[in-house]
Amino acid sequence: MIIVLHNMVKDAEKQHIKEYLESKGLKVREIVGEKETVLGAVGPVSIDIRQVELLPGVAQVIPISKPYKLASRELKKEDTVFDVGPVTVGGNRVCVIAGPCAVESREQIIETALAVKKAGAVMLRGGAFKPRTSPYSFQGLGEEGCRYLKEAGELTGMPVVTEIVSPADAEMMKEYIDVYQIGARNMQNFELLKKVGSMGMPVLLKRGLSATIEEWLMAAEYLMASGTDKVILCERGIRTYETMTRNTLDLSAVPVVQKLSHLPVIVDPSHATGLRNKVLPMALAGIAAGAHGLTIEVHPNPEQASSDGPQSLYPEQFEKLMGDLETLSSVVGKELTRLPDKRHLELAAKVKEAADIKGSTGSSKAAFQGMHGAYSEQAALTYFNGSDVEAVSVSHFSNIFKDVLSGDADWGVVPLENSVAGSILENYDLLYRYPDLQIIGEVKIRVRHNLLAASGTKLEDIKKVYSHPQALSQCADWLEKRGIEAVSFYDTAGAAAWVSNEKNPAIAAIASADAAGYYGLDVLAEGIETNPHNYTRFAIIARQDMISPDSSVDKASLVFSVADEAGSLSSCLSVFSEYGLNMKKLESRPIHGKPWSYMFYIDLDIPSDRTVFDKAVEKIKTLSEDFRILGLYQG
Ligand code: PEP
Ligand code: MN
Repeated sequence: MIIVLHNMVKDAEKQHIKEYLESKGLKVREIVGEKETVLGAVGPVSIDIRQVELLPGVAQVIPISKPYKLASRELKKEDTVFDVGPVTVGGNRVCVIAGPCAVESREQIIETALAVKKAGAVMLRGGAFKPRTSPYSFQGLGEEGCRYLKEAGELTGMPVVTEIVSPADAEMMKEYIDVYQIGARNMQNFELLKKVGSMGMPVLLKRGLSATIEEWLMAAEYLMASGTDKVILCERGIRTYETMTRNTLDLSAVPVVQKLSHLPVIVDPSHATGLRNKVLPMALAGIAAGAHGLTIEVHPNPEQASSDGPQSLYPEQFEKLMGDLETLSSVVGKELTRLPDKRHLELAAKVKEAADIKGSTGSSKAAFQGMHGAYSEQAALTYFNGSDVEAVSVSHFSNIFKDVLSGDADWGVVPLENSVAGSILENYDLLYRYPDLQIIGEVKIRVRHNLLAASGTKLEDIKKVYSHPQALSQCADWLEKRGIEAVSFYDTAGAAAWVSNEKNPAIAAIASADAAGYYGLDVLAEGIETNPHNYTRFAIIARQDMISPDSSVDKASLVFSVADEAGSLSSCLSVFSEYGLNMKKLESRPIHGKPWSYMFYIDLDIPSDRTVFDKAVEKIKTLSEDFRILGLYQG
């Protein structure tokens, strides 16, 4: 049963309710939600609900109708999101686990780990105990395999996932691994589920070969009732009469499970299809269906694999899949989970330093232009994800630069270009005008426009919609189709705030989903822009003293002007081709006070041999005027 507590419940009352339920033989879990705190009480006994309703501090008691209780959405309305080491699983994250079917040798698992990590995987898989159909097939390296997995995981920074087949191995495996996998063949091995659940660690629970969704959720319930909250469900195909693929991937299980359970659900297209060339389309389909991630078999040399070679991807195929997932994730409103790279670790150290200087109360600040809920704020939160950084709103772009220079802010988040509308020229001018500030990084975000209105508003009643002119033009098709009038406003989040204040059921705003949260509006329609390839690139700026001289960089932004004579620009640009440097962008801006003269802004890749870049810079300095490096950073 679910015991909803009063908002003002006292700690002593809560404690008394828990003790009462436990004294009746129930296990009690406290679940703190956004709107309310509830206690979930489960167990083999049934008690009179009315007795519980009478306890002080109880607002309501609701029986859970499903046979699975702790796993059910009835008990917990919000998605379960948890961390496995540095990796976040669930919610709006797409988490990719990859590795060979089986750990075959130390070299093989290390080689695979390096390859999948480079392509963007965040967890490493590999079986050390292989439950095989034939007793004569390769059974796995056992503890030795776990040891190699741990070594490969530590080397690459990836948590490791491996299958457990016997309760007797649980304690031994705990020393080596981060996530226990329960294989399809063991999904209803209840003694194994109880033992693994009692370890309290994350568990990846495969769906059984012929298990119904309810049986699968009951298996999750065993794990949770035994002591873990961190269960990842994995759809890996079921047995049907079809023989063209190894199993039949039941993709509709993904949205079905998401309705029934709060647990994250991922897809395993490798075991589902059994065929390498079917893995990529079904992996994408899994994410399109709403899965929180994938587990994919990858082998450096699939022909030689001791198990599941035909379904294992070559590393190049996996790299291609990760590229496609990057694009697809943003289309479905999710983000690929990434391992914190060196840049983020360096940044986190700088953030901490900045906060320390201010004393324990001040977290460091990133200034963005616009009101709370602006896309710029989303960019700030994305870039500084996980660090103790507060996004502070300023009214004009120039204030970002002023505040960073004065130290009122530690960082600035400045939009430079939008993939649909082009460059934000004012910010190029500001970058030039503040020589003491540098670009230290960049972040690209997908701009996803939503129709927001006061709670209870019906879409068909809306007559006017307010937003920034660019957002209105990007959603023009959608608005025209519904005969809604577009009205310009100074910014998107400002329009959301205004609509929230007006309380008029005939108006709406176009803004980010975050703005809906800030201003208490409902999202009536999501992703209403005509072109979903709508991205904005932001530069992160900081004072010179915030830059680590030893940071790893792969992108440069430069600015220079040239003499007003034939061939002067082309001789500068030819230096890039002479040194084999890849130019990413060229922008020109008029020089203030010097009519018909221009500054040229260039972005380019820094090659792994940094000296090539340094030599090219020396040469361009001799050919140009007013040369300056705006920033060296990781692009
Ligand atoms: C595996 O992941 O290698 C495996 C054996 O999977 P399943 O249990 O889904 O067959
Ligand atoms: Mn396998």
